[in-house]
Amino acid sequence: MATASRVRAYIGLGANVGDAADTLAAAVHALAALPGVRLRGVSRLYTTTPVGVLDQPDFHNAAVALDVPAGPDPATGATNLLVALKELERAFGRQVRQRWGPREVDLDILVFGRHAIATSRPPQGQSADPAKARLPLVVPHRDARHRLFVLAPLLDLAPRLVPPSWGETVAAAAERQRGIEGARAARPIASWDGEGWSPLE
Ligand code: ATP
Ligand code: CA
Ligand code: CA
Repeated sequence: MATASRVRAYIGLGANVGDAADTLAAAVHALAALPGVRLRGVSRLYTTTPVGVLDQPDFHNAAVALDVPAGPDPATGATNLLVALKELERAFGRQVRQRWGPREVDLDILVFGRHAIATSRPPQGQSADPAKARLPLVVPHRDARHRLFVLAPLLDLAPRLVPPSWGETVAAAAERQRGIEGARAARPIASWDGEGWSPLE
């Protein structure tokens, strides 16, 4: 039987409401259980300083590598993935709040294979917040390159990856951003042991 075509996608995970480490562990398992998806890697778990809205608890962040169904075309494949991520966010009880504010869980598509995508989305793929509902899906994620809380976990998985339109590796972007934000902005605290997070020594 022919294997359906798959694309390597990188997903950024974040949470800062409730037990964020537990939530992100459950989210990793939920992502791995999506139809047609294979989990290919899990970054370390980081605590990170909030960006944008500063007056909120520290975040926990991680990233995963997934092989996902390619879909008939990249825009459709990435949209299908986004719809699945938004459904998971809702299942994890994400409430509608301000952008960049506190959240139960945030799942962003950082990279979808070699594809640069900017597309409008069907209703299921839209944010629960009407103010954000019209935002197009943009991949690579437009701010990933300038956020250490995204780059540090992505660096664990794919240091030599050059995301479409970046013109530099994840390692180069992470090094620059660490210089801007300071190493303390993203602190590794645990690694994935296949079941959950094991605290680093
Ligand atoms: P940011 O996009 O700056 O990380 P956020 O994650 O806090 O902000 P959300 O409320 O989760 O914002 O989503 C804002 C909108 O961005 C949503 O409608 C979402 O569908 C859309 N969006 C656009 N590009 C992407 C992407 N690459 N991954 C996930 N969502 C995206
Ligand atoms: Ca986000
Ligand atoms: Ca998001």
